[in-house]
Amino acid sequence: MAVTEKSAAGTADPAGPAGAAGARTWREDYAGTYMGIFGSPQLELVRGEGAHVWDEAGRKYVDLLAGIAVNALGHAHPAVVGAVSEQFARLGHVSNLFTSPPQLAFAHKLLELADNPEGGRALLVNSGSEANETALKMALAHRPGGRMVALEGSFHGRTLGALSLTWKPAYREPFAPMTGNASFVAPGDVAALERELSGGGVAALFIEAIQGEAGVYPLDPGFVRAARELTTQHGALLVVDEVQTGAGRTGEWLAHTRFGITPDVVTMAKGIGGGFPVGAVIGYGAASSLLQPGQHGNTFGGNPPAAAVALAVAEEIEALLPRVRELGARWRAELAQVPRVVGVRGEGLLIGIELDQPAAPVAAALLGEGFIVNAVNPTTLRLAPPFVLSDDDAAAFTRALTSVLGRVG
Ligand SMILES: *Cc1c(COP(=O)(O)O)cnc(C)c1O
Repeated sequence: MAVTEKSAAGTADPAGPAGAAGARTWREDYAGTYMGIFGSPQLELVRGEGAHVWDEAGRKYVDLLAGIAVNALGHAHPAVVGAVSEQFARLGHVSNLFTSPPQLAFAHKLLELADNPEGGRALLVNSGSEANETALKMALAHRPGGRMVALEGSFHGRTLGALSLTWKPAYREPFAPMTGNASFVAPGDVAALERELSGGGVAALFIEAIQGEAGVYPLDPGFVRAARELTTQHGALLVVDEVQTGAGRTGEWLAHTRFGITPDVVTMAKGIGGGFPVGAVIGYGAASSLLQPGQHGNTFGGNPPAAAVALAVAEEIEALLPRVRELGARWRAELAQVPRVVGVRGEGLLIGIELDQPAAPVAAALLGEGFIVNAVNPTTLRLAPPFVLSDDDAAAFTRALTSVLGRVG
């Protein structure tokens, strides 16, 4: 930390150790060249393999965040590397004036993994935010001029449309007025949801199956089923944002299948590309033909390498789903036994560890011990590790957490 503070003040310490001198260099470089929207990065990472990454000083870390629920297969997985490089060598980018075999093959795979909904169709995009922008346009095509309902605590992205559905006022307010014209309902409050929907004019309700950015809060199944019934009754679309929970993260390919509901729209990104930027929108039934030619578009969406890698990732993830369920259940039970852990939330390998103390210093101490996690809210640590995490690395983290909680705070 001393290195960071000195670097921020611009006072280089020539007597510092070699590692610290290196750290000053990239921190200063970043501060002077990169827009400061993410604060100061914690590390400069240079290499990854499986569930491990290495920083510029050669230190090794167990990556329990996986690029925030992105690197489902870990780093440098041969299926990911092979699919990208083979497809790039055969046919790299083509515009969406054309299609390609990987694009069609991955669209088929997405529909198959969504249980082949009748009339279902897929669209490939570049990010979670763009997937939600697309869903927002679908909602407005469904009910022109309509308004949106989202949940308190929601996170749907940072582009202006997706941002209008994102709960945190500090993210939204500097950029008002918001396009989505959204109101927010407390998760679990069926009566409030019913009041919103019966007020009329609602084009869509956006929910996450588990609120990831809020701190890994699963939605109540009864609330989700009521949301499905009420949106149908009032002619609004139900959009399930599976950007964080999808692609096997919870031990199911799509987390909402646990609730036994069929949404109108599902949005995905993060894990589906295994680290390559890929997003997707699935329209179920009539929702799949809401957008007409010219109503949305992009340059990169579903280009051959993106689609090829996503297809390879999906096939690998299917085989890993039992492992995600088994390791997730066992590890969550172990973590719940750690002294000063007051609760463990989540499903599969999307895990929120609730502490009786501020989470940020604990996350910082764990980084010092070689474990990457994040303090997703003031008192919660989030784990979203690669599905290839070993039992030994999981157990080593549980021990490190036990010792860090014994001395920090
Ligand atoms: C990360 C996230 C997004 C935004 O995805 P980007 O790819 O960062 O645009 C949207 N919704 C949820 C639930 C997310 O976790």
